Amino acid sequence: MIYLDHNATTPLHPQVLEAMLVCLQEHWGNPSSPHSLGNQARMVMQQARARIAESLGCEPSEVVFCSSGTEADNLALRGVAGALRSRGNHIVTTAIEHHAVLHTCDALEEEGFRVTRVPVDRQGVVDLESLERSLTDQTILVSVMHANNETGVLQPVEEVARMAARREIPFHVDAVQTAGKFPFRLPELGAGLVSLSGHKLYGPRGAAALFVREGTPLRPILTGGSHEHDLRAGTENLAGLVGLAKAVELAVQDAAEEGRRLTGLRDELEARLSSSIPEIRINGAQARRVPNTSNVTFPGVDGESIILGLDLAGICVSTGSACSTGEPEPSHVLREMGVSRRDAQGSIRLSLGRGTRQEDLDLTVQVLADTVARLRRITSI
Ligand code: PLP
Repeated sequence: MIYLDHNATTPLHPQVLEAMLVCLQEHWGNPSSPHSLGNQARMVMQQARARIAESLGCEPSEVVFCSSGTEADNLALRGVAGALRSRGNHIVTTAIEHHAVLHTCDALEEEGFRVTRVPVDRQGVVDLESLERSLTDQTILVSVMHANNETGVLQPVEEVARMAARREIPFHVDAVQTAGKFPFRLPELGAGLVSLSGHKLYGPRGAAALFVREGTPLRPILTGGSHEHDLRAGTENLAGLVGLAKAVELAVQDAAEEGRRLTGLRDELEARLSSSIPEIRINGAQARRVPNTSNVTFPGVDGESIILGLDLAGICVSTGSACSTGEPEPSHVLREMGVSRRDAQGSIRLSLGRGTRQEDLDLTVQVLADTVARLRRITSI
């Protein structure tokens, strides 16, 4: 099997699995318990928190463990909205966020908040002027993703951070698609809130984190015990958190080198696809992108049919956001970039990862060229 869907999820790194197994077998106590088994579990959890903080350049007290990138995004958005409701009711985000952010904004609108979804240009980069113009004295939160999950296009989050900071507006970055893929330290992003998720960086599902910079106003969305600095109640998924910490540590160690390798492979893949399949377009190709992602439009062909054709040959790719699989609507991200409805439906995402080798891509180009030629013949009959 050739797996080219690493933006949907990644396999567990063997060292992550090993660390988790030790934890499941030996440290199964409840970190809140007062006895020695509990103390041991608490220590393991503190170590995991400290490792993440050190890898990403923040304080351990600024790491809030939670269950998924979706939960981290919800905590950031609903948490700030709840904490600052008396100060204002306006939230600014972009039109190409993941549904974890966009659908949360829809829900907040139903609760009386006003949301501005800033457009992007044809390369998928947020329009900074329009973002700045949208900020008012009622704005209580800005949320912009670091890289888009469908195109890999990086957003100018550092500039947005400066705009938000000038007005003392909390800034959230959904870094689910960059943590571990792209070398960065949290302070460099300039955000008060940053989401990341274990299963996108060779860690486990069910383990994620929200970085909450000291002093950022946030109201918990889950209430109960006083876990996670009173910000996220619920007995901790200790093995998951240990796995997350190991995954973050490993990813940060070789993000630069692996990034160079994947950029080389991705660029070669795109060059070969362009020379062997007529009329294709690489979406966001002129923008800065994460190293592993390629979003390609094959005009005149249905993306779902390409995926089926590749799957029959043992190659896994997707049309974009895994969460929207099965939805008949074409990608909101591509539509916002000005891609026609038809072309958006003829687009697929190839996302490379640690296991990807040149031979995999050679075969993928060959199968894609055959599949697209066959589908184009059928549709022209
Ligand atoms: N944000 C982005 C940019 C994503 O790509 C995803 C998942 O694809 C999420 C949030 C949600 O993360 P999780 O799958 O951990 O809930």
